[in-house]
Amino acid sequence: MGAANLSQQQPVTHRWPSSNCWFGRPYGPPIAFVLHSESGGESGTVAEWLSSSSQLSAHYRASVTGRLDCWIDPGDRAWSNGIVEPGSRWPIMAEACGIDPELNPNHVTVSCEAEDLGDRHRPISDLQYHAVLSAAREAKNRYPDSLRFLARHSDISPQSRPECPGEQWNSSGRFEALAEELGLRVVSS
Ligand SMILES: [Zn+2]
Repeated sequence: MGAANLSQQQPVTHRWPSSNCWFGRPYGPPIAFVLHSESGGESGTVAEWLSSSSQLSAHYRASVTGRLDCWIDPGDRAWSNGIVEPGSRWPIMAEACGIDPELNPNHVTVSCEAEDLGDRHRPISDLQYHAVLSAAREAKNRYPDSLRFLARHSDISPQSRPECPGEQWNSSGRFEALAEELGLRVVSS
């Protein structure tokens, strides 16, 4: 890395075609970029992702070392955050964007898994932060008008996914910083 300014630097994005998605966006362009924590890390995740039988599905994955993989094109729909539960903030985001709050969020979101090696308190490295930022920027550049929110999986599914993403994104201020840098709104608690 040397003295390179990380915020100026675009990480190389590795693209892998996955069929764990629905193709196209018949319900309109995405309104939110959704951040997840990916536990497990070393448990053969790449193999799982590449397996067509796997149900794992997200657009991007940012590793702790700053590697960015794109598994699903943002023009298609991943399956990673479709369950709206009591206490969900999804209806607030949907209504703000003129989307039927009953619509499955997977139809109008772009998702990114942030590797955490199974430790939700593991600090976010600058390299990983910038990989997530780069993914979100790519999505924002593609959908500059419709993409308005940065969401946590826990915003959509607060009962079953209260720690997705982990505390290291919330208490560190990294999540808020990401939203600010991208010019995206968050639904505050
Ligand atoms: Zn998640």
